[in-house]
Amino acid sequence: MKLDCKHIWRELSNYLEGEVSEEVRRDVEAHVAQCRHCAALLDSTHNVLVLVADERRMDLPIGFNARLRERLEREMSISGPE
Ligand SMILES: [Zn+2]
Repeated sequence: MKLDCKHIWRELSNYLEGEVSEEVRRDVEAHVAQCRHCAALLDSTHNVLVLVADERRMDLPIGFNARLRERLEREMSISGPE
């Protein structure tokens, strides 16, 4: 089953926080392995998470996921796939 990029992006923050099932994790990794766009996005999203986590000492603010999703939506509109 081939997942599209938007599906991956929806799961990205959960994936990075280890909150996805084994099946979803494999799907994300398989997609990222063959999609440069998502690989780049995963990398930049990971950097954001690391920065925020470091700043907050792992105490992520409420609504963080919502803000991350907004950021992903913006990136999508600027340089979306296809
Ligand atoms: Zn993709």
